[in-house]
Amino acid sequence: MLKKTIKSVNLVENKVFTNLTSKTYDLIALCLGSNSSIYQKINGNREIKKNYKEHSITCSITHKIKDIGAQQFFLKEGPLAILPYKNNKFSLVWSIEDRFFIKNEKSLTHYLKKKLSTILKTNKITLGNIQSYPLKLSLKRNYYKKNTIILGDGLHVVHPLAGQGFNLILRDIKKLDKLISINLRLGLPIKNSNIPKDLSENRKPENLLIGLGIHTTRNFFKNNKYLDPIKENILNNFSKSEFLKKITKSIANLGLS
Ligand SMILES: Cc1cc2nc3c(=O)[nH]c(=O)nc-3n(C[C@H](O)[C@H](O)[C@H](O)COP(=O)(O)OP(=O)(O)OC[C@H]3O[C@@H](n4cnc5c(N)ncnc54)[C@H](O)[C@@H]3O)c2cc1C
Repeated sequence: MLKKTIKSVNLVENKVFTNLTSKTYDLIALCLGSNSSIYQKINGNREIKKNYKEHSITCSITHKIKDIGAQQFFLKEGPLAILPYKNNKFSLVWSIEDRFFIKNEKSLTHYLKKKLSTILKTNKITLGNIQSYPLKLSLKRNYYKKNTIILGDGLHVVHPLAGQGFNLILRDIKKLDKLISINLRLGLPIKNSNIPKDLSENRKPENLLIGLGIHTTRNFFKNNKYLDPIKENILNNFSKSEFLKKITKSIANLGLS
């Protein structure tokens, strides 16, 4: 099967050019990751951005530990999250500062296994394929131009600490689906409609708030020998409050609306 690659978009004619064909659409939604040059003429790459000078290491681990739950470890290198998805498997996301990443890049498997064996107190773990990504914050100002919308990491890239990146995308898609359904139900056209504008006005404030909230959370959890004892106190009190836990769980699952 030949893979279609989008080469360019004509914003005036609503036309998408791929390596195989060109086609005209009423509404175009592009979801091409965070670095596509095609976005340049849609949003001009105007954004709030920050290079975290961190890398995220991801991996699937097979283990024999009984009843392991989702956990987050705040290590000196950066937060390490464990997310079980089967009885004997969990996925791992470890955001580590570049100085540690660069030092251990050539022996990541050994480095990660040693770290995990220490925190989980077992050697009986098998590491799957390790992947790593540089981490950044990117919150775009413009979501659309004419009938072309951007979706996904092209609009917002957030720190993986809170596991919210994909959730933001799903909420944007849900809203887009709702706006298209309303127009169809009312017999209104999709082309040259208010859908791109309404999507942007509805989703941008929440995406901005959550993106900056995660950024602040990441700064809070960054290793700091003077603030760490205070943080521990705050976290201890936080974990005792069922009310606060309920609120954060609800925001993580459903967003702010
Ligand atoms: C380490 C890490 C951990 C994460 N953990 C979580 C988590 O726990 N929970 C969560 O909700 N989110 C998480 N995220 C975020 C989530 O993975 C991303 O937000 C999401 O994958 C972005 O989806 P996307 O489709 O916008 O971009 P991508 O996943 O980058 O997909 C874009 C696709 O478009 C294709 N493409 C690019 N250009 C073209 C072109 N010209 N023509 C055709 N195709 C093209 C690419 O090949 C790619 O397949 C994490 C991210 C990282 C880096």
